[in-house]
Amino acid sequence: MQPSGEAHLGNYLGALKRWVEMQETYECIWCIVDDHAITSGGDPGALPKHTFDLAVSFLSVGLDPSRSIIFVQSDVPEHTELAWLFNAVTPVGELERMTQYKDKSKQFESVPAGILNYPILQAADILLYRAEVVPVGEDQRQHLELTREIARKWNAAYGDFFPEPDAAIGSVGRILGLDGEAKMSKSLGNTVGILAEPDEIWAAVRTAVTDPQRVRRDDPGRPEVCNVFTLHTHLTRSTQGEEKVEEIAYECRTAGIGCVDCKRILADSIATEFAPMRERAAHFRSRPGEVREILEDGAARARAIAGETIREVRTRMGLDWRNAVG
Ligand code: ADP
Repeated sequence: MQPSGEAHLGNYLGALKRWVEMQETYECIWCIVDDHAITSGGDPGALPKHTFDLAVSFLSVGLDPSRSIIFVQSDVPEHTELAWLFNAVTPVGELERMTQYKDKSKQFESVPAGILNYPILQAADILLYRAEVVPVGEDQRQHLELTREIARKWNAAYGDFFPEPDAAIGSVGRILGLDGEAKMSKSLGNTVGILAEPDEIWAAVRTAVTDPQRVRRDDPGRPEVCNVFTLHTHLTRSTQGEEKVEEIAYECRTAGIGCVDCKRILADSIATEFAPMRERAAHFRSRPGEVREILEDGAARARAIAGETIREVRTRMGLDWRNAVG
């Protein structure tokens, strides 16, 4: 995940919640990708804090350094090294075909090469650990396909070494913004931070867009088109149970409750879901040295794997002149 500071509700529902569960089944490697972040031209002065804050979010949701490797990409230079080596087998035409490249490049008069080459670094992030499964959103499926192609092309040129990783696409899909926009996103300001206090959660949820046809308090509502109801199906289900969600749907359809009452319940569900995370965040924020140790230990564990991969890759690509002198 890119370091844009504290994670938000969309990151949590779309990614982090599932990542925590995946730790039960997989040996996981979670990386804060600051080398990727520089391609979006953010403020370098803010990047260290954004990286630290995302690390606190990771630890607060329950990514667990005793079970997973958690680290910052730039602490493991093998990522950029492998990306360079993958340049040798990656067709420019494939990079230019990527939907995200087409979208992002429109914003520039002169497109930085990093925007084009971004998926090569992603391929390196994955293949450096010879990962088998990558949890991604639907919008990253194309980049993962490219990662598989890079693995295939590299294997064909230098001998079988990289597995072709599978995408584990989550069932949650894209969470709409509280303002009804197509994506809940920090940059659009239509979300709420996962470490927000209950009053901040209420301030954000209070303004949320609901069924546009429900104008007056006694108009019946349509939960199936209401984003607040969708959020109930995630957050009220997990904190208050399925029956409560069914009750809300019934009360909405029969105008038993108004939108404000309904949002109050949602704000409570979010506050309940986030409460243990806020507690853990308070712990980590008051002990930045502990976070630092976790990330440094994570980087050392990541480098142990990454170093082995790079050695093998360099040898197979002929980047080992000592072989000539014995
Ligand atoms: P943002 O757009 O807020 O900067 P990112 O695009 O960096 O967030 O997303 C990081 C992770 O969080 C990705 O794995 C993505 O799938 C997930 N995510 C972000 N926003 C949403 C959303 N609105 N719905 C579902 N998942 C999301």
